[in-house]
Amino acid sequence: MTISPRPEPECQSREGLATLLSRLQAEGLRTDAPVGGRRGGAGPSDVGMVWVDGVPLTLATDPSRSDGSPFSLVDEGKSSDGELGIYEAGRRVADLRTMRRPRYYDLQTEDSTPYWKIALLHLDSLASTVLQTCAYWGNDDQCRFCGIGVSLESGSTIARKQPAQLAEVALAAKELDGAVDVTLTTGSTRAPDRGAIYVGRCAEAVKQATGLPVEVQFEPPDDLAAIDRVAELGADTVGIHVETFDPAVLARVAPAKARTGIDGYFQAWERAVACFGPGQVTTYVILGMGEDPDLTVEGCVRAAELGVYPFIVPLRPVAGSRMADAVPPPSDYVQEIVGQVVPHLAEAGLSSTTARAGCARCQACSPMAATERSGNQLVQLAGRPRDRS
Ligand code: SF4
Repeated sequence: MTISPRPEPECQSREGLATLLSRLQAEGLRTDAPVGGRRGGAGPSDVGMVWVDGVPLTLATDPSRSDGSPFSLVDEGKSSDGELGIYEAGRRVADLRTMRRPRYYDLQTEDSTPYWKIALLHLDSLASTVLQTCAYWGNDDQCRFCGIGVSLESGSTIARKQPAQLAEVALAAKELDGAVDVTLTTGSTRAPDRGAIYVGRCAEAVKQATGLPVEVQFEPPDDLAAIDRVAELGADTVGIHVETFDPAVLARVAPAKARTGIDGYFQAWERAVACFGPGQVTTYVILGMGEDPDLTVEGCVRAAELGVYPFIVPLRPVAGSRMADAVPPPSDYVQEIVGQVVPHLAEAGLSSTTARAGCARCQACSPMAATERSGNQLVQLAGRPRDRS
């Protein structure tokens, strides 16, 4: 739909913006036009990547996820500069700006591998899954929310990215498209380090070529000395993702991670904080998998007290994953949990601005930064839905 003239933008309070971002993440955005994003893979999958009133956000735009959303995207005749409006019930609620296609996507390596198959630009952050295979994929240990094998099967990436390839692409993304940091994740291997050293070597090459801050992400290694080695290779921050603090949910959705156990994650985090420093270690905490809210908040607070930033995100069901048909949690539930955790982060000296690189630096997949800025914390809502998976 195209309308004109363009109405004046609504004045958005910080509290209102935090609520709006959370609702957009929960309910998605109806749009006829592609807004830029990605399908499949690890990390933010099957989402559009945009700026809403200047704030980075990932959200569902696929009709299968957003058809019932009260929010629609309207082209106000200024789309040539990427400015669009988000409307709810005929009222303009926010600006939306899309990502332009990164320039480096048109380049390729000497062996004719397109740069975009090696690493993608997520808004202003370059991201790559350095090993697009996982020892758990396709067997009983596969994490039910994960889509790491989906993009490999579709041919949209390559199985193993070499350190030199990543360095070459990262330099182009920095120089041509203004990438400000790099996030490198990996599927798990059967080796005792779970793949940590390889992703650490990739980070080393990227840092040497670009000087950009780099986050590496991996499972807790059997021998925690591997974390020391990764730190020596030069990564700035590390993500070691427990995904949920509810042990029953962990056992159901990520059996291999459940064998490490939540205490196993705390041991790995303790070692990682000693190497990388407080606030430079993060864990994803996914909401909407049937978790106990009290265990979730307790786990986040315990992690924060250790110096680990719990990066709370709503479940994003990934097409092709074993939770493809799950329903994302309602925004009030997400806001309640985030609102309870954020004040404890402040007490622990952590905030959305602490991390030098990675998902916690970007914040587009979580309402945490907006909640922190709004001061709208300790939101208490009646009724805590417990089982949404
Ligand atoms: S460990 Fe789980 S989340 Fe990580 S890549 Fe393997 S299946 Fe996916």
